[in-house]
Amino acid sequence: MAELEVRKARELGFCFGVRRAIKLIEAAAKEHQGIATLGPIVHNQLVVARLAQMGVRVVNELDQLRDGIIAIASHGVSPELLSKIQGRQLGVIDTTCPTVRSAQKAAKKLAEAGFGVVIFGEETHPEVKGLLGWAGNKAVATLDGEEIAGFDLPRRVGILSQTTQSRSQFTAFTNRVILAVAPYAQELRIINTLCQETQKRQEAALELAEKSELVIVVGGRNSANTQRLAELCSPIVETHLIESADEIEQAWIARRQRIGVTAGASTPDEAIEEVVSKLSSFATGA
Ligand code: SF4
Repeated sequence: MAELEVRKARELGFCFGVRRAIKLIEAAAKEHQGIATLGPIVHNQLVVARLAQMGVRVVNELDQLRDGIIAIASHGVSPELLSKIQGRQLGVIDTTCPTVRSAQKAAKKLAEAGFGVVIFGEETHPEVKGLLGWAGNKAVATLDGEEIAGFDLPRRVGILSQTTQSRSQFTAFTNRVILAVAPYAQELRIINTLCQETQKRQEAALELAEKSELVIVVGGRNSANTQRLAELCSPIVETHLIESADEIEQAWIARRQRIGVTAGASTPDEAIEEVVSKLSSFATGA
């Protein structure tokens, strides 16, 4: 197996939004005790564990926190939750990613102008729950364009996306929405709220998949953008999503020479390097 080549995607791992969120929390943890994040700060267990060593814990409900400092995750929150947080006697660190913030502002603007907002995204994902809050009471979120015909939308319809969706799927979804609302819609607005960092990682993953006999995607299984990388690569080449190097099975590598490695925007460099070095060890027989 000495000829095994392990190649990393040209764009992978931490995005600027995740780096920024971690930096804000780490800086606060050096100065203060009693910091809790509302849900995991990013969807990666290694990051959460490292912050826990610095005294930062995770709470799932605001009511679990009576005092101290609450950190809002990079996915952001709805205006209702934000005002609840602000109404408590708590310190607040808001790490909402600027790209998510732009999507929230776009949703708010559409809602204020009387548009029914259609969000292309997973209804249960924290970012989408937040976006739904900003998008007013005529907003819906779905990944299935066929469902649109069943929604009671006004005659002005705005479409936007969860930031981490893929461009091609958002385009296909938008086309279906246009077809569904065309018979009655007076005005349609499409706002591109896709994250460029995510797009770069997706394009690089597709390029890597074309050149590889196996792709390993490293990242949290609960991370939407990591899942998306695996979904994009798997129709092209055998793909495995793993959280750590321990999950690699030697059988995957057998008779393969070109292995590609990519990673979600919340995956730390150490996790990526561990995977690359474990794969490389198969080449050297170490
Ligand atoms: S993936 Fe994009 S939207 Fe999400 S935190 Fe990173 S930069 Fe922000």
